[in-house]
Amino acid sequence: MSLPGAAELAGTNHLTDLHQSMDRWFSEVARVLPWRSSDCSPWGILVSEVMLQQTPVVRVLPVWEDWMERWPEPADLAKQPSGVAVRHWGRLGYPRRALRLHAAAVAIVEQHAGRVPDSHGSLLSLPGVGDYTASAVAAFAFGRRETVVDTNIRRVHARLVSGLALPAPSLTASEMRLAQSLMPDDVELSVRWNASVMELGALVCTARSPKCSACPVRDSCAWLAAGEPPPTYTPKGQAWHGTDRQLRGAVMAVLRLADSPVAPELFERPTADLGFAAEGTAVPLAALHRLNSAPEQLERALEGLLRDGLAEMHDGGLRLPA
Ligand code: SF4
Repeated sequence: MSLPGAAELAGTNHLTDLHQSMDRWFSEVARVLPWRSSDCSPWGILVSEVMLQQTPVVRVLPVWEDWMERWPEPADLAKQPSGVAVRHWGRLGYPRRALRLHAAAVAIVEQHAGRVPDSHGSLLSLPGVGDYTASAVAAFAFGRRETVVDTNIRRVHARLVSGLALPAPSLTASEMRLAQSLMPDDVELSVRWNASVMELGALVCTARSPKCSACPVRDSCAWLAAGEPPPTYTPKGQAWHGTDRQLRGAVMAVLRLADSPVAPELFERPTADLGFAAEGTAVPLAALHRLNSAPEQLERALEGLLRDGLAEMHDGGLRLPA
């Protein structure tokens, strides 16, 4: 089967068909998610976009709901110390995102009268908001025609249009040009196109085992037409066990539950000596000790948390930032 390549697609009936197929599929199968509701605020969408960047929907949902109940407006979060945001980040991982959201909330209050700004440029000027988040919030919160490119979208474009099993290891200029060329001209349709391609990547065109028989655009898929060629490289797995990231996560779990500073020695003590543990921290401390980390790795993890502003020293112990 001969399919149009990336360069020929723009402006063709084939592209219009793709838009329509994806739009129909999205209205039939899209997950009902609170940040997709028409009454979700731009702040709720910004928070969801940051949480979803490195964490699956199922883990984000309860934390997002908790955040929205506590801090329905940026001003509610901005009033809190940044450590409270980190505490309620829970186990979403990459907790620097909580600090970034807190800093964004403060900037929204100080520079935008407490309202999330509505253009890509002004969103981009918020601390911790990068190009992807600015595009996604401008599109999904304010209905703007923005080219949104996340990991899922990149993978769908690579297979559907470029005939590759996987996109390049990191975003390239030609991928951005391809994504721009695929965008519908109609503004409303462009917003749904972004959301539908993202959803296809999350539910059907998944990284490890695409469910092509359930794909609404399989007849147009360049990767299928090419005979499903294998990836040209092996993606780097995200190691976890034994890493500094795992150890940092275990330390953060202790700090989130501690109601007073935790003496650094406690992180090193064996489980049997937990009589010194601050109330409520015995379980996460035991989990930390089970990792059996080398002293130098523990020291590196603690230093990293202090350096990143995720913890601070107070009264000789470690605590979340005040
Ligand atoms: S047919 Fe398969 S590989 Fe192609 S876009 Fe659909 S799910 Fe992805």
